[in-house]
Amino acid sequence: MMQQYLRLKAENPEILLFYRMGDFYELFYEDAKKASVLMDISLTKRGSSAGEPIPMAGIPYHSAEGYLAKLVQLGESVAICEQIGDPATSKGPVDRKVVRIVTPGTVTDEALLQERHDNLIAAIYHFKGKFGYATMDISSGRFQLCEPTTFEAMQAELQRTTPTELLFPEDFDPIQLLENRHGNRRRPVWEFEIETARQQLNKQFGTRDLVGFGVEESELGLCAAGCLIQYVKDTQRTALPHIRAITMDRQDNSVILDAATRRNLEITQNLSGGFDNTLAEVLDKTATAMGSRLLKRWLHQPMRTQQVLNQRLDAVDELKTSSLFSELAPLFKQIGDIERILARLALRSARPRDMARLRFALQQLPELKVITSSFKQSHLQQLAALAEPIDKVCSLLEKAIKDNPPVVIRDGGVLADGYNTELDEWRELADGAKHFLDQMEIDERERHGIDTLKVGYNNVHGFFIQVSRGQSHLVPAHYVRRQTLKNAERYIIPELKEHEDKVLHSKSKSLALEKKLWEQLFDLLLPSLEQLQNIATSISELDVLSNFAERADTLNYCRPILTKQIGISIQKGRHPVVEHVMSEPFIANPIELHAERKMLIITGPNMGGKSTYMRQTALIALLAHVGSYVPAESVKIGPIDRIFTRIGASDDLASGRSTFMVEMTETANILHNATQNSLVLMDEIGRGTSTYDGLSLAWASAEWLATKVNAMTLFATHYFELTELPSMLAGLANVHLDAVEHGDEIAFMHAVQEGAASKSYGLAVAALAGVPKSVIKKAKQKLQQLETKSAQAETREVKVEQQLTLLPEISEVEEALSAINPDDLSPRQALDEIYRLKRLL
Ligand code: ADP
Repeated sequence: MMQQYLRLKAENPEILLFYRMGDFYELFYEDAKKASVLMDISLTKRGSSAGEPIPMAGIPYHSAEGYLAKLVQLGESVAICEQIGDPATSKGPVDRKVVRIVTPGTVTDEALLQERHDNLIAAIYHFKGKFGYATMDISSGRFQLCEPTTFEAMQAELQRTTPTELLFPEDFDPIQLLENRHGNRRRPVWEFEIETARQQLNKQFGTRDLVGFGVEESELGLCAAGCLIQYVKDTQRTALPHIRAITMDRQDNSVILDAATRRNLEITQNLSGGFDNTLAEVLDKTATAMGSRLLKRWLHQPMRTQQVLNQRLDAVDELKTSSLFSELAPLFKQIGDIERILARLALRSARPRDMARLRFALQQLPELKVITSSFKQSHLQQLAALAEPIDKVCSLLEKAIKDNPPVVIRDGGVLADGYNTELDEWRELADGAKHFLDQMEIDERERHGIDTLKVGYNNVHGFFIQVSRGQSHLVPAHYVRRQTLKNAERYIIPELKEHEDKVLHSKSKSLALEKKLWEQLFDLLLPSLEQLQNIATSISELDVLSNFAERADTLNYCRPILTKQIGISIQKGRHPVVEHVMSEPFIANPIELHAERKMLIITGPNMGGKSTYMRQTALIALLAHVGSYVPAESVKIGPIDRIFTRIGASDDLASGRSTFMVEMTETANILHNATQNSLVLMDEIGRGTSTYDGLSLAWASAEWLATKVNAMTLFATHYFELTELPSMLAGLANVHLDAVEHGDEIAFMHAVQEGAASKSYGLAVAALAGVPKSVIKKAKQKLQQLETKSAQAETREVKVEQQLTLLPEISEVEEALSAINPDDLSPRQALDEIYRLKRLL
């Protein structure tokens, strides 16, 4: 047996081998040691090899699923080895075979997957600084490739797709990409060869070349895709009929988000890695898990094609005005996650209850049709057409599967009565031919005059004739005693034995036939797979659109207008997540960016709402490019090619980069890659270094973005010097977030105003945070000292004409005065301004 084990283990050297022995899966040697730690099971010994006891650990087969889930989550793969021979007839160890390999990226079992999250497997390839990247979602059959041309773009793709398993060639160079991830799998270099890849892919799709998929020329991507398809086939050990195509994931259709931006905007994950307080949490009230997964894909890949976006918006509009979303949602809940059921169907691993759930889902389609037949908008009509009822499959499942089938096919009882006459006959025999037994009971009673005589059956002893102890002296000689009970004796007779053999035989016959018919059911269903997948696709999208309509209605969102002119104009914009978690009312704010006003320098106290204001602008832009309504009163938005953010200080200690280094790397990326159509968010750049360094860097970056790149930029800063920029360069403006001081108290207004903030309120915020009064007092004194000193220093520096551009040439009062537009002021505001000017003096 150990020889057999070692041979199987040699075929799967790098992964755990679950070796089936009776009711257990056993692991040996190093596997046992590793598994005992990972699964928290006890490590024992068995036999010995070369004088040493063999370490062993095992788990009962019926609880394997829970252990597999744990291992898969840890990024481990497991080869499942089953007994395939018959223990009764085989000599020596029973024949065993690895029947499937469970890996984190290829699992389709319901118990091993997170319902509302995609589970992807990917392969990465690298050649001369360029990348090939292929991803596959086995549970939907989506198979895509792309060719990121820079390290940053590759990093962003990895972050967007977050594959649970990533295949890379042995000689992969940019190893930093693989750091801090679970589930990296080293593969031999030859698996990435282009010729093998073409051959494997053509074989999978049944094509002669890959021109039809538009990927023929994408050699780097194909190398990755080739390795991926081989790996998946190898682990699944079955055909993959639902993987029918590979598509190119073109970057030029989408609004590009780099890795930092995805993180900073907290799209599906918050900064601490959780799922709460994210855009997805607020926005996702989809009825099906497949809808939820699609929504998250959309959020991570906003698109630029306005025609498609307008189609989605029109659809949301109709669903909202007609209130149909409230009728669709309950129906979608009934339909459920058929996408993953269909994947299990394709892989022939569907369980009886999957079939029952699919049947139930298909039974809802006629009702869905009643609702969707009132659709007027063309995109909605197209989706509805894909979800037409599919009677053939539905009635097949109705006929074939019992109402409440058991969990597994192993013990039968899954196929419905009346589905197959031969099965019905065997089953009737196997059920013990009740009539025969009743007759025998009557006959025997009369023949021998024993009125307590009964014919019965139990699992251990089989059929028996039972007679009470008091009458046992009446039984005839040919009754053979089988069992003695307290008050009765049990016997067997030749006719009953014969009957018993027949019943047992029928049982095994009926079970074998049922299993055969079960397999045939897959053959009958598979030709309809594509049509069924279309239904799943259509319902996922309808679910998302109807969810957008419901959200727009409930949360009071408006329809964004997409225009061709560069710019963003928002009236009464809100932050979708902050407004959701706040108990106080959220202060809505406007924003105006256009060709003549492309950069805003945002000042104001800490906690004033600068970050919130910037992020809400980015989130509204993102939602508009997903086809969703947005949290605002009205929104007009022009084309956007990328969104960049440089927000907050997050130390990337794991990769040994300091806050400042991270900040500068992100800044460099923005300065290199932003275009005039990009939306750039810069928050407090230059904080991580000395004041003058920081100020100079912030100044130079802002200037570069304004003059060289001309990107739409929101630039929040605590360097007041930067508020000079708008008076020096065209296309810039100052805005600030207001705060009001009352003695030592400070109140944040959270309202965005034109012009620069008057001061930074740092001490007031510190006091608010509970810094002791005496410390604040000391700080005030120190501040005064510093301010006097720096004023003197500044005059000196002006003399030597150094860092000229960094220094204010006009006084604060003059600047404040120049920012005032008397015609815009109410008498009350004018009076306030006079007080403010007086204070500044
Ligand atoms: P800053 O970036 O200026 O330090 P934040 O944007 O982090 O300030 O905002 C601080 C807090 O103020 C937020 O957590 C939120 O609770 C509140 N806040 C921000 N903007 C608004 C707003 N428009 N309306 C109401 N509360 C707001």
